[in-house]
Amino acid sequence: MKTARLSNGKEFPIGKILCIGRNYVDHISELGNEVPTAPVIFMKPATAVIYDGEEVVVPDYSDNCHHEAELALLIGQQCKGVAEEEALGCVAGYGVAIDLTLRDVQDGLKKKGLPWDIAKGFDTACPLSEFAPAAEVSDPQNLNIRLTVNGELRQNGSTALMINSAARLVSHLSAIFTLEPGDIILTGTPAGVSRVCSGDRLCAEISGVGRVEVSVH
Ligand code: MG
Repeated sequence: MKTARLSNGKEFPIGKILCIGRNYVDHISELGNEVPTAPVIFMKPATAVIYDGEEVVVPDYSDNCHHEAELALLIGQQCKGVAEEEALGCVAGYGVAIDLTLRDVQDGLKKKGLPWDIAKGFDTACPLSEFAPAAEVSDPQNLNIRLTVNGELRQNGSTALMINSAARLVSHLSAIFTLEPGDIILTGTPAGVSRVCSGDRLCAEISGVGRVEVSVH
């Protein structure tokens, strides 16, 4: 069973991983998408998670896997229909994830109006850091988020540029899904996504929050 670990030693079995697409305007522009009127939601299974030091295996049905560095929220208590003002009280910790995306497969599915699961939810599609306890993160909307490939900076953004804040996302998602301890929310990626290749080392980091480094098989 996959677990989410807090740096204070607490551990949660991972439940559902709810992901938000198109939450930074600069990333929407780079892919030529429209700014959505409501958050774009998809899920990854817990089996997609890998940890620091592990290896990404790109499925053989794709030739174009992209990295997307994202702020991850770890839910610490059950909530349903929580108000935006109270939403961050349900968050146990903050971490960093890489939403690995088979862009070629996703583009094909989008054109056919089909769901994205096989482009987003394959094994190893969700490298995940350890989480910093929420009490140690004073403002989740003022965090530098960056990703390097083989030491070269590719993504360098700020959570201040999110269209929907972490609090708004928790509130919005909790109106649809009962959120439970161990659920994780990926909050979208800033600009700079690019193709990963065999042998690459990906490192995603958010200062004061977490860091995850993985290699590509
Ligand atoms: Mg993403």
